Amino acid sequence: MPHARVLIDGPSELVFDYSFPDELPVLPGCRVRVPLRNRPATGTVLSIAAAEDLGFALRPLTDLIDPSPLITKELLQLAEWIAHYYGSSMESVIRSLLPESVRSEENSAKLQKFVHLVEMPTTEKLASIEKKAPKQYAILFLLQSASDQKMLLSELGQGAHSSAKALEKAGFVSIVEEEIRRIPDADMLEEIIESFPLTLNAEQKNALDKICEHIDQPSKPSLLLGVTGSGKTEVYLQAARYALNQNKSVLVLVPEISLTPQTVRRFKARFAALNDQVAVLHSHLSQGERFDEWHRIRQGKASIVIGARSAIFAPLPNLGLILVDEEHENSYKQDSVPRYHGRDVAVLRAHIESCAIVLGSATPSLESFQNCLDGKYELLRLNQRADAHSLPLVRVLDMRLEQQKQKNSNTIFSDKLRIALESRLEKGEQSILFLNRRGFARSLQCPACGEVCQCPHCAVALTYHRTDERLICHVCGHTAIVPRKCPSCKDPAIALQGYGTQKVEDVLAKLLPKAKFARIDADAMRKKNSLRDILNAFKAKKLDILIGTQMIAKGLHFPNVTLVGILNADIGLHVPDFRAAERTFQLITQVAGRAGRGELEGEVIVQTSTPHAPAIQFARRHDFDGFAEQELEFRKEFHFPPYGRCAVLTVRSTHERRAEFTLQTLHRRLCENQPKGMQISEPLPSPLTRSHGQFRFQITLRSPQARPLTNHVQAVLQKTSLPEDVIATFDMDAINFS
Ligand code: ADP
Ligand code: ZN
Repeated sequence: MPHARVLIDGPSELVFDYSFPDELPVLPGCRVRVPLRNRPATGTVLSIAAAEDLGFALRPLTDLIDPSPLITKELLQLAEWIAHYYGSSMESVIRSLLPESVRSEENSAKLQKFVHLVEMPTTEKLASIEKKAPKQYAILFLLQSASDQKMLLSELGQGAHSSAKALEKAGFVSIVEEEIRRIPDADMLEEIIESFPLTLNAEQKNALDKICEHIDQPSKPSLLLGVTGSGKTEVYLQAARYALNQNKSVLVLVPEISLTPQTVRRFKARFAALNDQVAVLHSHLSQGERFDEWHRIRQGKASIVIGARSAIFAPLPNLGLILVDEEHENSYKQDSVPRYHGRDVAVLRAHIESCAIVLGSATPSLESFQNCLDGKYELLRLNQRADAHSLPLVRVLDMRLEQQKQKNSNTIFSDKLRIALESRLEKGEQSILFLNRRGFARSLQCPACGEVCQCPHCAVALTYHRTDERLICHVCGHTAIVPRKCPSCKDPAIALQGYGTQKVEDVLAKLLPKAKFARIDADAMRKKNSLRDILNAFKAKKLDILIGTQMIAKGLHFPNVTLVGILNADIGLHVPDFRAAERTFQLITQVAGRAGRGELEGEVIVQTSTPHAPAIQFARRHDFDGFAEQELEFRKEFHFPPYGRCAVLTVRSTHERRAEFTLQTLHRRLCENQPKGMQISEPLPSPLTRSHGQFRFQITLRSPQARPLTNHVQAVLQKTSLPEDVIATFDMDAINFS
């Protein structure tokens, strides 16, 4: 008898094998009933193994709940690839692929009793009902005037049940159980006004034509590189329409639903006539809503699905087009197991399902851009803003000079930025202030010359570790002593840099006491509606200034914003991460794109102590190609992605020594017969040395190819038994090195 590996429903995530008779059509993704110890349980089949002699008898499956599997063949293939590539268990992948709400029995479709009018009694009969049973009489009249002549039993008022029963017996009504859909957003009652296609400009038209060709005849992925405001979204909308017209479905990925409300709204507006064919997969959906949406999608009732990372697993039949908006965004990478990258999985899914895929961005990832240079992706460009406004003017302010002028080693606002803010206040225009806050990692910078202590081998900033007063390179492990004065200009004021959003608020309140402002950062995100409320208040011009982290750099469109200030562009530049420059370039470019989106011209002020950094200079000129060319050279020289792969192995424990020893053991084993071309760093404390009471240590690995790297690390992990309270995590294609 063959046997099935089953993931048992419930929080403990147990996996057991069960046998089943040959004739039972059990497939991966099927829902089954099984015996578990002394009780019955339900679960999902993860895999099937052929009949073999195990030397012991497996317990048999009790029952197949539904012979059609929840997972299509294509999605199963995708799941297997993810498990291999990212070195995660198939169980963890299936768990991501099938939301718990879908796997659980409790959320099955919601049934409710409806009362339908069958026929009205004769006038005579009606008169007698009115006298003898006024309640029945009332129900008949309610039903007669209801749309479709039916109503929910629960809406007919107290005690309606027995009256309705009596009417049913007399043949005037029927009571039927029907499925009702739990409609997400039902409480938002936001009015969506249908929008219509705009006449495309030549660049947009060319891009759309190419995408439509791929919808008809899928070949390679497209990268839509369009400057901010160039009308990428309009191209997406028309491409989606084309796919729908070919009776194909469309999947739209956005970095985060709550941060991209405007993109979601534009899709809803364009396809308003299709009404409920647009499904939006929020993280705020209730279990019941998620269940209903998932099944609607699977049954082909929703032909456009919009969602964040995990929506890539939406079971859309007949997929024709996948759109990945802001493809460079880090939030596409999942930071828990399985650590997949939504964009990369999307590219693979498009390949497996043989459909078109478009990755869009004003600042594409260098990985995707290199794929264009290699001819693996097709590059589509939009170089002009669609509304004929020019890109905003970007000024770079040298904070070293400001520091000297203001005689203060931690100046937050330059005079120019303060004056610019004041003038916006006077004119009733709005401003956005960004603090690029990538937290904890602290580097040393000289306020006089801007020099940052860097690793001589890797060209990334060295990170300051307070515990042992050292500077460490988080790529290779190089360590250095903390200099007493600047190595370059000998100024003794060399200091740790950085301040938080709270400090910005305090200073701003003193600087511009009349300004009304609000702050958006991770704290603000914690409450469900506060982000929306703040954005709405800002849109309604009830606020003058919005202060935020990179969280608000995405897709926002406020026509009245004419000034954007980036307070300390250096914070992001000097983190121990080879993508530091790329992120800074992306942030400045994206943020600059928030200014001047209306009739008024926009201005951007970038405050920095390293004004000549290429990321800042290229962003100032809106020059993606120039930046990419220079940055790719650096990546090539140091074997960083896109030239080779980079992964992080992290070990954490409440027990510092135990974590450190474990990582040292793993390091030793990793260094034994390592694959050709692989580079392994020393075991080091993580930049985020301690988190949630656990000590963290890590190794960075680089390799020309992905598979040998994953396989090597997995093999070492498998043969190393970790102490009980030590956890090891492997992050392939890591984007977070903290
Ligand atoms: P992106 O997504 O590239 O940032 P958007 O799609 O948001 O750009 O477009 C920016 C603005 O230009 C929007 O207000 C949009 O309605 C407008 N727009 C886009 N395409 C056209 C067009 N072909 N003609 C006129 N206006 C356009
Ligand atoms: Zn180094």
